[in-house]
Amino acid sequence: MSKPHAFDHSPYIIRPEPIVRLKDLATTPPSDFTSKGEAKKALAEDVSALSEAQRILWADGRFSVLIIFQAMDAAGKDGTIRHVMSGVNPQGCEVYSFGPPSAEELKHHFLWRPTRYLPARGRIGIFNRSYYEEVLVVRVHPELLKPQNLPPGREGDELWTKRFEDINAFEQTLHRAGTCVIKFFLHVSKDEQRRRFLERLDDPNKHWKFSAADLRERQHWKEYRGAYEAMLAATSTHWAPWHIIPADDKWYMRAMVADIVAARIGELDLRYPELDDAARAELAAAKERLLAEDGG
Ligand code: ATP
Ligand code: MG
Repeated sequence: MSKPHAFDHSPYIIRPEPIVRLKDLATTPPSDFTSKGEAKKALAEDVSALSEAQRILWADGRFSVLIIFQAMDAAGKDGTIRHVMSGVNPQGCEVYSFGPPSAEELKHHFLWRPTRYLPARGRIGIFNRSYYEEVLVVRVHPELLKPQNLPPGREGDELWTKRFEDINAFEQTLHRAGTCVIKFFLHVSKDEQRRRFLERLDDPNKHWKFSAADLRERQHWKEYRGAYEAMLAATSTHWAPWHIIPADDKWYMRAMVADIVAARIGELDLRYPELDDAARAELAAAKERLLAEDGG
């Protein structure tokens, strides 16, 4: 099922335990990428490859795929999900968006919530934000820990290290169970975020997309960058590596994400189930019966 891929993914895969410095990583496409047309063509090819891959994933029934998107506001998560999954059968796919936790969710471990929305075998699950918010927004705003009612002695810097360990163990469990975990950080620059916020403010059709909270969070850009760097360095594992995708050019980003998803699913050992002799005989008998109806 594997096919040649349009792009080189290697610059964007984060190897385990590096030091991640987001300032040194591109938010724009490489200089040899010039054409939106090229990206759109690659995206269209990957979308159809994904559609075929999903059919086999479903028929095979042994694996599932979990795609995680994390990003600063206005990086383009929604548009990327919409475009990349545009060819996928909605019956085999669920998107779950992570907002602030409910009262019930606060009473549980932070990995309880995602567990409930994991894709079953044969299905694709997409997390629009995820349990990673628990080491991002919660780290930037530690007052969010208060309603979590953690037992004493669980606060301080240790908490984040322990959460990274818990996340890595959780994802390893998923990997062992046959879930292919594909993680994307859509890396948008602060300037491009400003430009997109202004566009939302200038275009009445985009007003609904703007919230005052977005501007508040923008004031914490540096703290978010620090939290993202620590998280990306600690949770890029062999079984679930992060991909840091330049997000200032939306078409390049969408095409790159689709290409990586198609490649990762292509690496799974997917096949249509083979029928045993008894099942084959049953099919032959069914065909015979249906053909016999013709005459009557
Ligand atoms: P959009 O582009 O539509 O704004 P979004 O992902 O920003 O998409 P929102 O509903 O605006 O969606 O934001 C969800 C908010 O929920 C984010 O600010 C995020 O940080 C917050 N959130 C997610 N998980 C948690 C969590 N575990 N604890 C606290 N806040 C969380
Ligand atoms: Mg938002």
